[in-house]
Amino acid sequence: MVEFAERPKYYRERTFDGTPMNTIAIYNQDGAIQTAYSNECALNEKGRDCKFCNLNATRNAYSEAEGIGWKYPHHIGETVAAAYKLDGARHFTLTGGYVAERREVEYYLVVADAIREHTGLDDFNGTAVIGAPLDLSIIEKYKEAGFRTIATNIEIWDKNIFRAICPGKELESGGWDHWIKTLDHEVEVFGKGRVRSNIVAGLEPKVSTLEGIEYLTSKGGVLSGVTSWNANPGSALEGHRTPEPVWHVDLFKKVVAILRRNGYTYDQLYDCAPIPVSSIHDIYRIEDESLPVFHEQASEAQAV
Ligand code: SF4
Repeated sequence: MVEFAERPKYYRERTFDGTPMNTIAIYNQDGAIQTAYSNECALNEKGRDCKFCNLNATRNAYSEAEGIGWKYPHHIGETVAAAYKLDGARHFTLTGGYVAERREVEYYLVVADAIREHTGLDDFNGTAVIGAPLDLSIIEKYKEAGFRTIATNIEIWDKNIFRAICPGKELESGGWDHWIKTLDHEVEVFGKGRVRSNIVAGLEPKVSTLEGIEYLTSKGGVLSGVTSWNANPGSALEGHRTPEPVWHVDLFKKVVAILRRNGYTYDQLYDCAPIPVSSIHDIYRIEDESLPVFHEQASEAQAV
């Protein structure tokens, strides 16, 4: 049986100046909401976007009226408060394209202030998704601002493929080694299991991705996951093909096994990730028999 998710109540609401809240934060199911504060990435200025990414192409395809512009901190604060109150939301992710680090950190701090003000919560269970800053000392500021977790996406484990696929991260943002150093520092500040890094699966050999997940989760304390690469329209890799589904499912199962072996719980995964219905989440919940369908089966068995 297929059931459709219910439309969240805050989607009907508007902010103080009439902006529809459904253009400020999207509901990613199971109490998780997400704001992409901008649809522009500064790496585009020198033609150094990540090859799988279509953020700038998306911005060019839509208008401001369609919710593609910068999001104002007070709009975000109001929207998060409404989602927490009306829909029982309990996790918020703030993400966007690459911007100069000073501008990025200042914006995140103002957003965190607005969320605390509107929700009344000091710990609003937020994840700050950021690029690797050249000045690592600013990582502390995100924690002080009230974010519970932080995410910095390495995207590709193989250094040479990273250089080819993520030229901007390599040339404008310190390169692969600096991104790993950033993750190490984030774990020092936020703690094990409160730092996430994603690898885009299907752009490098599976063995390389698994090596990265093993390294980050066991040695680094980073809750590292994977998402399947889709050949996004407008990206440099438009028209290419991701590996077959069976390749991805096998990878997901192996990633969950590594996460479990290194002691990461479902709750830690929930707190770090923007979408709690990813394949990694589902495999955790299938193995734990904690998906709603298992409860329904147990009730039916009792009734019989
Ligand atoms: S850093 Fe890469 S993945 Fe992130 S928005 Fe820019 S181009 Fe896209």
